[in-house]
Amino acid sequence: MPDQNLELENISIPMTVDVPYRFTAGYYMARFLTELRDNGKFLGIQCPVCKRVQMPPRIVCAVCDVKNEKWVELGSQGVLTGYTIMYLPLTDPTTGKPHEPPFVYGSVRLEGSDSVLDHFIDIEPDPRKIHVGMRLEAVLRPRAERTGDLADIRYFKAV
Ligand SMILES: [Zn+2]
Repeated sequence: MPDQNLELENISIPMTVDVPYRFTAGYYMARFLTELRDNGKFLGIQCPVCKRVQMPPRIVCAVCDVKNEKWVELGSQGVLTGYTIMYLPLTDPTTGKPHEPPFVYGSVRLEGSDSVLDHFIDIEPDPRKIHVGMRLEAVLRPRAERTGDLADIRYFKAV
């Protein structure tokens, strides 16, 4: 019988997992992505009770637990509500390719929205040059290169 009290060194086993997959965006997200791809516009959805506008759109208001049905067009500019400077590579889930550090990743609340979208911020990764509340604008891929996913937004830049 093996000795249960034997101290072992911590051995790690390197493993690379490659799991490409697709899932259906659903009606609300598909409408949002189609409008972004075809017309370069952002749509939000408004709660009939609290009037909160969610973007990306969600079928149910998480506060009121009612179905959202009123679509509203949002501006392509907004404000930075939080950010992080990434010093480790982040794999882009849509391409599988790493985004080389350092870079800024942040939450942006577009004009007319009450929720935020997390995305790349094209700004020097220097905390002295970034601040919560700064105005940003979405930079989209050219129309011919858009595919109908969030990567159609290349990044947000300072206005
Ligand atoms: Zn609500």
